[in-house]
Formats: sequence, C-alpha cells, structure tokens
Amino acid sequence: MDAALARAWIAAVAGSVTAHAAELTDLDAAIGDGDHGVNLRRGFDAAVAALAAFEADTAGAVLTKTGTTLVSKVGGASGPLYGSFFRALGKTLTDDPDAVADGLRAGLDAIVRLGKAAPGDKTMVDALGPAVDAYAAAAPSGFASAAAAAATAAAEGAAATTPLQARKGRASYLGERSIGHQDPGATSTALIFAALAGLG
Ligand code: ADP
Ligand code: MG
Repeated sequence: MDAALARAWIAAVAGSVTAHAAELTDLDAAIGDGDHGVNLRRGFDAAVAALAAFEADTAGAVLTKTGTTLVSKVGGASGPLYGSFFRALGKTLTDDPDAVADGLRAGLDAIVRLGKAAPGDKTMVDALGPAVDAYAAAAPSGFASAAAAAATAAAEGAAATTPLQARKGRASYLGERSIGHQDPGATSTALIFAALAGLG
C-alpha cells in the first residue's frame, strides 16, 4: 500500500461515516448512548484534516497519523479502539508497505488487547475478525480481491451480531435487551472495509 492509497482510504471512510452517521447513531441509540455516528464523523473528519497538513510519503505514516488523531479526537470507546487499530496497521506498514494482511491482523490484535472482547461478544471484533481472515486468505489473488473478500466478510460479521447478547461495552449493560439489534461498531467496521474495497 502506498501513501496515496492510504489517504484515499481514510477520505473514503470519512465520506462513508458521514453518509451513514444517522444509521450508526440510530443503532447506538438502540443499545448504547447514540453517539457512535457523531464520534466517528468527528474522528475521521479530524483525521482527514490532520492528513491534509501532513507531508507523509508512506502508507505507514498516513495510517499511524490517522490512529493517533482518532485516539485524541474521539471520546467514546470506539476512538481508542479504532485508533489503536490504525496505529498498529501503520506501524506494520512502516516496516513493510506490502504487509497489509499482517498489518490488519496486528490491528485486530491491538483492539483485542485493549478491549478484551472475544468473538461473539457483539462488538466490532465480530466484523473485524472475519474481515482480517478473509483478507489474508484472498491476499495471494491481489489487493482488489482481498479487499472485496474482507468487505463481504465484515458485512456478514456485522449482520451476524444482531441475534447476539452484548458482553462488552455499553450495550452489555442491557443484558438480554441487547438481542435483536445490529452492533454499531461492527457496522462501522463493515463501512471501513467497504471503503477499502471501493479503492480496489
Ligand atoms: P461508547 O460505547 O463509548 O459510546 P461508541 O458508541 O463510539 O462508544 O462505540 C460503541 C462500539 O464500540 C460498540 O458498538 C462496540 O462495537 C465497540 N466496543 C465497545 N466496547 C468494546 C470492547 N471492549 N471491545 C471491542 N469493541 C468494543
Ligand atoms: Mg456510543
């Protein structure tokens, strides 16, 4: 991945979370506090602004900057979680710009280290885990195929959170009442991978 592709990805994510802000907010209003759309819009708009003033010529630097901006600008749980994802991805790509599959895996690991969510806890991990696996499996076929496979897996993973009971984050306070709603963070993870696939 080069710097231009990384910049295009973050710009596409910012556009997508803006277009879907109301949907993300409605999902979070059902099982959380209703700020997920606002949180991500603020975070990715801030990342785009920070990148415009940042003369990075590697994807690693662009994505690390994205991560640090998300951590500093987003108050909710998702800011530190997505921030650590992009920082870990950026760090991996700084060492090897072609190691996208490894970088995505490092990003997933960083989220799990921080949030301690397991698969099936009804969080962003339920979309991200399948997306990382699908990307790695399809990586030998090239970026476009891998990104498309990851986007499909993330969307399926997000949809599969609906019947689950939340065991992490604010939604877990609802107990059984969290069942029947798609997880907002898993939904935004699907948007992030759809944006990546859109570049392929
Ligand atoms: P907050 O819950 O602080 O209001 P957001 O609304 O921005 O933050 O994000 C909520 C999303 O964060 C959830 O839908 C879930 O996917 C994700 N999340 C919350 N806690 C965790 C965790 N411990 N591990 C992984 N993801 C989590
Ligand atoms: Mg919230």
